[in-house]
Amino acid sequence: MADNFFNIDERLCRLAEIAEEKCFEKFKETERIARHNGEKVLAAFIKNKVSESCFKGSTGYGYGDGGRDVLDKVYADVFGAEDALVRHNFVSGTHALSVALFGALRPGDTLLSVTGNPYDTLEEVIGIRGNGNGSLKDFGVNYSQIDLLPDGSPNLNEIFKKSKDAKVVYIQRSRGYSLRPALNVSQIGEIAKAAKTANPDAIVMVDNCYGEFVEEIEPTEAGADIVIGSLIKNPGGGIAETGGYIAGRADLIELCSYRLTCVGMGKEVGCTLNQSKPMFMGLFFAPDVVANAVKTASFACELFNLLGFECLPSNAEKRSDIITVLKLKNEENLTAFCQGIQKGSPVDSFVTPEAWDMPGYESKVIMAAGAFTMGASIELSADAPIREPFAAWMQGGLTYASGRMGVLLAAQTMLERGLIKL
Ligand SMILES: *Cc1c(COP(=O)(O)O)cnc(C)c1O
Repeated sequence: MADNFFNIDERLCRLAEIAEEKCFEKFKETERIARHNGEKVLAAFIKNKVSESCFKGSTGYGYGDGGRDVLDKVYADVFGAEDALVRHNFVSGTHALSVALFGALRPGDTLLSVTGNPYDTLEEVIGIRGNGNGSLKDFGVNYSQIDLLPDGSPNLNEIFKKSKDAKVVYIQRSRGYSLRPALNVSQIGEIAKAAKTANPDAIVMVDNCYGEFVEEIEPTEAGADIVIGSLIKNPGGGIAETGGYIAGRADLIELCSYRLTCVGMGKEVGCTLNQSKPMFMGLFFAPDVVANAVKTASFACELFNLLGFECLPSNAEKRSDIITVLKLKNEENLTAFCQGIQKGSPVDSFVTPEAWDMPGYESKVIMAAGAFTMGASIELSADAPIREPFAAWMQGGLTYASGRMGVLLAAQTMLERGLIKL
């Protein structure tokens, strides 16, 4: 079956068919999860009486913005939490995570990361990189870390031992831009249990970025106290234009709201401008959009396996985030892959990404992204630092047709440059 629009090599089309056949069970499972999560979201909309007036938006202080309060309740229900704080005013996932950390921690407290190094941008928030000014460390918050075991699972013995002295036990669900595996929600549940057995007062906090709706339940339904994420990733469904969310225990959400706005006002203020409707609509679409991203990831994994490359996670593993790592062996492959992904983007398909010296990185990085929303990585995108193991971190895909074609164009570009043999 040749494609009608892209002149993909016949042999590659055939391989794509084989790859899709291999994905059959995975796709069925992904669609089952999407249906479950889609029903969960719909039920939360209905229970909380979402109406057109919720989309009206507010200006100024935003007092009495009913839509904002309903959106918080809908998120709380979807995440099985007591309360939530969903705001376009969160400028990024890092900002939402920073608000949660500063909201929960006090001078003399200890933040214990139990999934090794936290995401790059959080190192400065914590104060383990940079000059430390304004960081948690600057405010007297201690930091301690437990690495994952060599097989990527959490070190439950150490977690049990060290949680006694921790105020926040911090978990990163996604692999992020590392080679470690994503933690699935049941593993997060085990961590929460170990931490709370040792210290019932410990706050189990989860960086949920890239993880939302990949499984049927969220960490807050498995023992975590608070989850945080970005709306230009999974839960924004490719429709939210910016923002972030925090969901969890009501007392913690209040502390976070005091940090986002100010003490006393908290959640009562913050106008929504014209951002309510895209945030509602994005959440409504999110389970299906995440499924499309997961299907794109599963397809890429099988196709590139057939082309002779190792991909992580393999389709035999249970997924808990939308990221796929493709080990492409050398710089030429990485460059062709990213340039091919870009060619299949609905926006900016005509530009050619090149590796460049990004501030804060030790090696050059090449990035492919052609998105409706700048930086939105629920849309098909790939990032690759030019260094061993010459891996591309690929994620997203708003629709399966476009995600699949992006992946095929990446392979086609490698083929045209004589980098792969069929
Ligand atoms: C994206 C991401 C963040 C930070 O989000 P930004 O919106 O890029 O600031 C934090 N943690 C993980 C695991 C992420 O994937």
